Amino acid sequence: GSKEPVNINNLTGEYFKLAYNGLRAKDKTFNTTLTTNFDENLPLINIVQQDIGRVLLNLFNNAFYAVHQKQKTIGEAYKPEVIVTTVALPTIGKASSVIVSVRDNGMGIPDSIKEKIMQPFFTTKPTGQGTGLGLSLSYDIVVKGHGGKIEIDSKEGEYTVFTVTLPVG
Ligand code: ADP
Ligand code: MG
Repeated sequence: GSKEPVNINNLTGEYFKLAYNGLRAKDKTFNTTLTTNFDENLPLINIVQQDIGRVLLNLFNNAFYAVHQKQKTIGEAYKPEVIVTTVALPTIGKASSVIVSVRDNGMGIPDSIKEKIMQPFFTTKPTGQGTGLGLSLSYDIVVKGHGGKIEIDSKEGEYTVFTVTLPVG
């Protein structure tokens, strides 16, 4: 695909529901609160929709998986939530970026593996449930393909936040 001007809110909202419904189709007992915080004044950004769509889908799937695992261990007392936020970065000169962040209150990422999760084929999921390619592919698409960045903040057992920054381009 080639780059075209996109309002990332639409794409984000669509893929958020798509990922959730996909998981729900496989496991009806799974449910989580979905929260969207959309900046309604985003500039259009020049992206390959299909590629950024894959990035979002992977981040959402990872987040849902993380809350799902925690739900299985804790049960009723736990209130799973996945929050997606978009925000336009304040413009400095002509440069401007859009941020999409995905936060879940799932299992979190242990410090001991934080360095490894972007590597191809690194996964903590059982065979058949993960290829370990999602984040390395996302890195290629966001960083190499779009000149953006991906940042990670996580606390084991508490939360994970992936922040994707995309230049308007
Ligand atoms: P896969 O999903 O196939 O395992 P990814 O590259 O998408 O591959 O992710 C690699 C690993 O990073 C996961 O197996 C998991 O250990 C960790 N990870 C990614 N996202 C999250 C998250 N939201 N919460 C907890 N762990 C995560
Ligand atoms: Mg994944």
